[in-house]
Amino acid sequence: MLETTDSANASTSTPAPSKRIEVQSAHTTYTTCAYCGVGCGLTAEVDPCHRAVTIKADPHHPANQGRLCSKGASLGETLGLETRMLTPEAYGEKVSWNQALNTVSDTLQTIINQHGPDAVAFYGSGQLLTEDYYVANKLMKGFIGSANIDTNSRLCMSSSVSGHKRAFGSDTVPNRYEDVEQAELVMLIGSNTAWCHPVVFQRIQAAKEKNPSLKVVVIDPRRTETCTIADLHLPIASGYDVVLFNGLLAYLAEHNGIDHDYVETFTEGFNNALADATKESGSVQQVADQCRLDEEAVATFYDWFLKTPKTVSLYSQGVNQSSSGTDKVNAILNCHLATGRIGKPGAGPLSLTGQPNAMGGREVGGLANQLAAHMDFSDAADIDRVKRFWNTDRIADKPGYDAVSLFDAIHEGKVKAVWIMATNPVVSLPNADKVKTALEQCPFVVVSDCVSRNDTLSFADVKLPALGWSEKSGTVTNSERTLSRQRALLPPAGEAKPDWWIISQVAQRMGFEHAFKYQQPVEIFREHAALSGFENGSEGKRRDFDISAYANISLEAYNDFQPIQWPVNAEHPNGKHRFFSEGGFFTPNKKGQFIALTHRPPAHSPDQPYPLILNTGRLRDQWHTMTRSALSPRLNQHRPEPFVDVHPDDAKRYALQNGHIALLSSAWGEMYARVQVTDRQQQGNLFVPMHWTEQYASHGRMGALVNPAIDPISGQPESKHTPVTLRPFRAEWYGFILSRHPLSPLECAYRITIKGDGFYRYELAGMHPPEDTTQWLTTLPVS
Ligand code: SF4
Repeated sequence: MLETTDSANASTSTPAPSKRIEVQSAHTTYTTCAYCGVGCGLTAEVDPCHRAVTIKADPHHPANQGRLCSKGASLGETLGLETRMLTPEAYGEKVSWNQALNTVSDTLQTIINQHGPDAVAFYGSGQLLTEDYYVANKLMKGFIGSANIDTNSRLCMSSSVSGHKRAFGSDTVPNRYEDVEQAELVMLIGSNTAWCHPVVFQRIQAAKEKNPSLKVVVIDPRRTETCTIADLHLPIASGYDVVLFNGLLAYLAEHNGIDHDYVETFTEGFNNALADATKESGSVQQVADQCRLDEEAVATFYDWFLKTPKTVSLYSQGVNQSSSGTDKVNAILNCHLATGRIGKPGAGPLSLTGQPNAMGGREVGGLANQLAAHMDFSDAADIDRVKRFWNTDRIADKPGYDAVSLFDAIHEGKVKAVWIMATNPVVSLPNADKVKTALEQCPFVVVSDCVSRNDTLSFADVKLPALGWSEKSGTVTNSERTLSRQRALLPPAGEAKPDWWIISQVAQRMGFEHAFKYQQPVEIFREHAALSGFENGSEGKRRDFDISAYANISLEAYNDFQPIQWPVNAEHPNGKHRFFSEGGFFTPNKKGQFIALTHRPPAHSPDQPYPLILNTGRLRDQWHTMTRSALSPRLNQHRPEPFVDVHPDDAKRYALQNGHIALLSSAWGEMYARVQVTDRQQQGNLFVPMHWTEQYASHGRMGALVNPAIDPISGQPESKHTPVTLRPFRAEWYGFILSRHPLSPLECAYRITIKGDGFYRYELAGMHPPEDTTQWLTTLPVS
């Protein structure tokens, strides 16, 4: 619910929203979507008596301007209590909040006393609100004194963060969504935008209808739904983006396509980057051969880029999730810097983040190698600054474990306690069976989540019920730097509490009462805003992230908060749309940096016994590990089972047909999936969706297969390139069950659970049929 009392700390200096919109009428509340990084605004009509919410698009929100996708529109179907965690539990027993919080704080403190602060860790999520994230980061880095806090955003966009920092000196997104409507050329690189960021796709589609000369180039090994609007699709060989963009840089130089004024005035490193690019890529023909592309198609792409000043590059997980993800990002940024196409209307690079608040996490320092407010461990002055601001003598002074290394450290017994917040690493991390073993062995596992069951909760010693999307109140930041309010629609489920409250209560019990006295999210937001402006610009060092205009925001203004692109400070009271068109980079000499790049092939090559390359990704109508989206019968209709896309030649080679069940295996694990034979897939390449968990599929966790190699700079795993093989799973029996009630997990090799409208469907297959099927069916346990 919206807070109703004003604050003593209120100020009249908070910027007035540019367009004032009522944020709550009798039954309508303005909020933001729970799902992807587009960050759409929603209106919610609430019937509190029936816990019913009707969702519509917010016509005023700058991200979507009245648009919505299938996931956002179905949010109202996901708010029931049947899967919610309603009370705290410790060691299998229901306990009071006081007991649960004491158990967490006492055990963490005991482990810290015995083994030091680096023996404990937090693992968070881009689902957390900024206020939650800020408090978690402050407790771990500022007061426990370790930087062992990382987040599932590491799996999503940490290569973009490190690419931005290398090129710009800061993690700054230079452009905004509106630029796709002003561009003449839109490049979609490693992004199935149609399914993963649907409203951005709708905006491009509408722009193309309005301006038929707008060209769209899709660079993706798969022919995805996004290609339906492509004028040119480059089905690049997996992992070869640096070759393609090095080739583009060389081509631009050769064809008089460099903006020498911009390069000389605002950047450095161009000559080295060009020398490496030229040496690396060779002729257009050589680039095409290396990338396994048609030469004419590459030449067309280069020619369009050369001749189109208004070019926007949107890129996503296909670029980031790679052992050379940071280099791929910089290869794209090099071409934008070389042409001065950055931070201009209709021209610039824009990384699309996966999660609703991945950007908020970046702002508060949710990654283990960051400090808060875009400050860094690499600068002793930053560490000292944050230490003084938080008034602590325990601040961490070096980066902690990134996601993959963190679970390795748990596996090795170096980290003895982990607190997992709003994420499901047993499904989503690479080499996920090893993550399972790590959590099994870990002496103390805390999970705070809003659901009662998921694959990770099975390993929790303490389970803490957190508020769900419809109950939370705070702020989020989307891919284009727009800050928005997420507002509570419904009362808490059972005894569920806000994440910021849970973390603050543990912090207080650990002896840090003075620093964690928060009573409401606005107090945390004020502190976060104040830190962003604290000594920002001192000693000539400005930081990009600055929302200091909100350092004294009143409760009323916080409740009334309207979407705005940061920075929001004395210089930019109404926000700022774009960066870097006139230089102003955040490097020590204020110059943008070209990065000289050499192609590095993926960490593991396909070879016997794993001759195929596995790609993984999102579906249109599921989200992450399905804890929310699989509650919607409508969304479950889109793709009800985990599948594997197989090229017709590979299907023939492996004796597979449409509808068969295949067993995929890699050096790390196995999964079953239903075969879809399709020429959208390149020969030698497979694709599986990332979503299925043990809750919904007996053996459908793609993470079990995935290569744990990481990018050496960003720590992001190579989720798009795992050597695998596959073979038919020849079951002795197949069947399905329709039930009015959910059934407890059924023991058989292939079991898929699909929630329908008023029923549950179970797709089954196995090796040993029950001797008495009738008896088996009538004794199935109801969940
Ligand atoms: Fe939600 Fe993303 Fe769809 Fe917008 S595009 S409604 S943020 S899932």
